Amino acid sequence: MRALRINISYFSGGLIAALVLLMFIIWCVSLIVIVDRQNQQNAESFQRNWHAQVLQLQQNQKLWLRSQFYLINSMVKSPEDAGKFQSFLGNYYQRNPEIWAVSLINFSEQGRAVSRAQKPGCMQPKQVRRSDLTKFQIPKVTSCRVGEKVLLEVAGKVGTGKKASLLLISMDYFSFISRFSGLSYRNLQRISSDESGIQYEEFKPVGGNSQRVAIPMGDEFATYGQLHLYLPLHSFWELFSLQVLLVLAVLLSAAMLVFMLLHYQILKPLYHLVEQMRLTATSNQEIGDSEVEPLEPGLKVMQRYLDVLRKLARRDPVTGLSSRVIFEDRLSQAIRESKRDARKYALVLVDIHGLDEIAQLRGQFIADALLKKVAESMREGLRETDNIARFERNLFALLLGTLERGQLNTLIEKIYLSVTRRYQVHGREFNLSAGVGVSIYPDHAIDLESLYQKASEALVESEKSDWPIVFSLDADETTDTSGFSLIQGLRRAIDQHQLKLVYQPVVDLHGHETVYLEALLRWKDPKKHEVSIERTIKLAEQNNLIKPLTNWIFESACNFVKECGVYDIAVGINLSMIDLHDRQLPDRIEACLQKYSIRPAQIVIEITEGQIMQDPDEVIEVLAHLGVMGLSLAIDDFGTGQASLTYLKELPVEKLKIDQSFVKDIVSSDDDRLIVKATIELAHTLDLKVVAEGVETLEVYELLRDMNCDYVQGYYVSRPLETEKVTEWLEKIVKPTLVRKGR
Ligand code: C2E
Ligand code: MG
Ligand code: MG
Repeated sequence: MRALRINISYFSGGLIAALVLLMFIIWCVSLIVIVDRQNQQNAESFQRNWHAQVLQLQQNQKLWLRSQFYLINSMVKSPEDAGKFQSFLGNYYQRNPEIWAVSLINFSEQGRAVSRAQKPGCMQPKQVRRSDLTKFQIPKVTSCRVGEKVLLEVAGKVGTGKKASLLLISMDYFSFISRFSGLSYRNLQRISSDESGIQYEEFKPVGGNSQRVAIPMGDEFATYGQLHLYLPLHSFWELFSLQVLLVLAVLLSAAMLVFMLLHYQILKPLYHLVEQMRLTATSNQEIGDSEVEPLEPGLKVMQRYLDVLRKLARRDPVTGLSSRVIFEDRLSQAIRESKRDARKYALVLVDIHGLDEIAQLRGQFIADALLKKVAESMREGLRETDNIARFERNLFALLLGTLERGQLNTLIEKIYLSVTRRYQVHGREFNLSAGVGVSIYPDHAIDLESLYQKASEALVESEKSDWPIVFSLDADETTDTSGFSLIQGLRRAIDQHQLKLVYQPVVDLHGHETVYLEALLRWKDPKKHEVSIERTIKLAEQNNLIKPLTNWIFESACNFVKECGVYDIAVGINLSMIDLHDRQLPDRIEACLQKYSIRPAQIVIEITEGQIMQDPDEVIEVLAHLGVMGLSLAIDDFGTGQASLTYLKELPVEKLKIDQSFVKDIVSSDDDRLIVKATIELAHTLDLKVVAEGVETLEVYELLRDMNCDYVQGYYVSRPLETEKVTEWLEKIVKPTLVRKGR
């Protein structure tokens, strides 16, 4: 996976580099094309321009030559003027160096030319005759090449009649270029002369890149040569560096713009804010400075949030316990200190079970209230030096300075028992169970993380085992359960038959007969066990011990009935909530009845009202099954669990046992008396028999009889009896007065 990620990043890096390179190449190629096209266009327009200029020059040259002809012509009226003309020419050549020659051709009597020209020209005097003068009535411009020179010549007639002469003015064709073209005279050089003509060249520009442009020169009849000019070229590098500079300049200005924006819009106000806050903090002033005033509401809100966050970081909002952050800080501190004084610490993780289901069924509000109570219970069991925190949802952590291992076990069990009990929240009752994982510093780990890991592993282990408290184990360690007196003791008691049943009679108020004997659980050696039998049963429920316990109770009670040998004697057996969820329970009871040859009617099943209401639908199903089997059903502790009448009607119940909390005070409390009376009437309406529990005095006994109650149970009639005493009891015709006297 990692290699793949690296490859992908290499690949994308390479791709980006290739793209950048491609873009750079495209940029360079486009620059080359642009430069080339621009140079091409420049050369073409340069050539066009110069050609037009050359044509114009030629035109001007001809005009100038003609004007020279008329100028000289005006001076030569007759051959007599020749002397004057010669002296004029000396001066004239000096002023006009481009004039090659001026010739005046006179004719002899025979009409042949008599030349006065010293230099050769286009029209040699020898070739001209007087008769030719008619061709030159209008001065004619011709051109010719003489050696290495190209001459432009104007020939025209001067004078009239026999005295008519021919005036020839020749000029160097290229000399006008230097004179009239505006090209730099000094640099204009004649470089060669060949068949194609005479070539003039402008000096090459030094160093620069340039292109030669040839401009033809001549007239409509001939081309005499070329003018070579050098056009400076745009180079690629020139354009490239120009563009790079431009891009850099744009980037620089953009960066400066962004920086200025950042500086003025964000950084400056931020620096200002920081400075103001620093000043406020150091001067310890209230924020009221006019400059900071606009910030005041925002800062106060921030402060409030910070306070809340600080509180949240330190305390769990639901339970008020320390947060995980604080706990871990204390744990690290404890580890640091213990390195100096070699102390041991136990990290205990307690996971509360069943809270999520309660939150789903009853809402988070109830679950939170329960969590609060759990936290309170846990805190009560701790010493000043111990630390406790809620880690997350239903997980608590405790840091206990360790004692000797047995004592530590007792303390952890005490904490466990303080948590796993019955809670009353907003008028409802809830039972919670828990799992506990423990690791000890430095026995199991020497750093915070490993210690936490070991405790977590132990906690997971506790979920799997039927032992709710699990210590992290080293390879050579075995579980030391010496401190877990209660849970371990109960397990041992079930396995080793250290328990017993006592029987408390339920008697008929009118016939004074024993209706049935309620089996009540006892430790054989009660002095060793301080915990009440109700707590013991709860403990068994939370530790998977209820099934073997109920089995044992059934076996024991059935055995007792069989041993008793009284035909119609019945025993009452209390069932726990867990039993009522056990779908195999009816089969197990059936087997037990068969084993001891007991009729179903000899068993009265007692279930509390609260148990029915915890999960009415499921309980009704099991109870209906037991009812069909022929067992008698009684609702115990009636009045404490808010059972709905609807359920009462659905259940195959025969008896209602009014809870002793109502019965106890019926003599003194009008309310209780009313409740008991109403309950008796209600039960009778539903065709049920009523048992009053906790009858301790004759007054209560008699009042109940007056209220038409059916049966009673309580110390006034009899305390729970050991099995040996039961036979004795059964032999008597039970009369309350006799019982009282007999006690
Ligand atoms: P319970 O089923 O309502 O049992 C009656 C309780 O009231 C018994 O307490 C009994 O000793 C006590 N009692 C009877 N007459 C009087 C009286 O006149 N005054 C006072 N103050 N108390 C009286 P015990 O044996 O401690 O049992 C407490 C509860 O534990 C029982 O309430 C029952 O819910 C449960 N329990 C007892 N034995 C078993 C058992 O074998 N299995 C199950 N699942 N629960 C049992
Ligand atoms: Mg009972
Ligand atoms: Mg009861």
